[in-house]
Amino acid sequence: MKILVINTGSSSIKYQLFDMTKETVLAAGMAERIGSDSGTLSHTTMAADGTRNTIEITENLDHARGLARIAALLMDEKHGVIKDTSNIAAVGHRVVHGGETFKEPLIIDQHVIDEIEENTPLAPLHNPANLTGIRVAGSVFTNTPQVAVFDTAFHQTLPKQAYMYALPHDLYDTHRIRRYGFHGTSHAYVAGKAADFLNIPLEQLNLITLHLGNGASATAIRNGKSVDTSMGLTPLEGLVMGTRSGDVDPAIPFFLSRHLKMSLDEIDAIFNRQSGLKGLCGENDMRSVLEKADAGDDRARLALDVYAYRIKKYIGAYTAVLGRVDALVFTGGIGENASDVRERCCRGLAGLGIEVDPVRNKDAAALPRRISPGNTSVAVLVVPTDEELEIARQTQKKVLK
Ligand code: ADP
Repeated sequence: MKILVINTGSSSIKYQLFDMTKETVLAAGMAERIGSDSGTLSHTTMAADGTRNTIEITENLDHARGLARIAALLMDEKHGVIKDTSNIAAVGHRVVHGGETFKEPLIIDQHVIDEIEENTPLAPLHNPANLTGIRVAGSVFTNTPQVAVFDTAFHQTLPKQAYMYALPHDLYDTHRIRRYGFHGTSHAYVAGKAADFLNIPLEQLNLITLHLGNGASATAIRNGKSVDTSMGLTPLEGLVMGTRSGDVDPAIPFFLSRHLKMSLDEIDAIFNRQSGLKGLCGENDMRSVLEKADAGDDRARLALDVYAYRIKKYIGAYTAVLGRVDALVFTGGIGENASDVRERCCRGLAGLGIEVDPVRNKDAAALPRRISPGNTSVAVLVVPTDEELEIARQTQKKVLK
């Protein structure tokens, strides 16, 4: 069975075509700068012997032309990996905000489209782009079932005490203002992988999963289910990120508005695009932060301190939430690669049963792997995430049902 996974942004389409027999990627690529004259499409096919073949195209693309191009490349006589669009059993779409409506993946019909639209005020940038992807894919892959997999769905098991803000109840009743959480596909995937690695059923495991990429979030998982997570109504809440502040005093926007006369848009840009690592030291990419810190840059060192300190606070909080923690899982570009960051996040947590073995931490051995010493109560693991594969799996499960 072949499954195409699509992640549509306002100016990009990322995709991967999976052969689910062995969960291998047959082709993958990305169309970027859609809507500009210089849209680019990079398409790579992976042969069974590991050979890769990449084609780069620059042309004026919109979403519809971009996806039609992608379909044509998948079927291309020379480089193609399928004969016909009907070879694709289903298309899985990443949809950012499922609100309270969607607790699991769903086969897309008009009702699902209407509901995703309904949730647009909660994700004004992402949901309309995801819907464009769904509509365009429907016209290119006619008669192919399409499945929506929601970033928020895994966190729909949060108890009310964890998802309610202490705001007037009416804001929840009327406008559904509450905590939703994101990166659900990634947290779910690495939780499953950790269970496999530890050889313990997920339903018996309590985990703290840390997804540390450009965006970052922590999740407390009890018996395999998400019971708290650091992102909230939007992905702004929680950990320090590449350009997002994470937790701040909610009165800061009032100050910026009243005293500095900033507009809402300016404040939004500060918190979402000019804060986090970038705000603290001018660099949003962790590799650059680490390089600068190594070279003695005080602000980069401070950025690392603030970044790790915030994660530590969440580890402490979620240890209290869970009572017993079996494993702490690092994932995402930073979590998987930055041993220095992992060490800082766990430093001084021996009292909670969390320790990192310096040799195992730096070891570039195969992943997933355990980086804690053998005798600690909490297994500290590094588990690579694969959101696309998780979407493909959930899509397959849905169409096979
Ligand atoms: P996204 O959230 O966009 O999927 P990623 O999960 O790829 O992002 O994470 C991107 C982050 O991972 C960047 O901050 C990048 O610097 C960091 N990163 C990637 N490789 C390394 C590395 N070897 N060492 C430190 N940080 C890394």
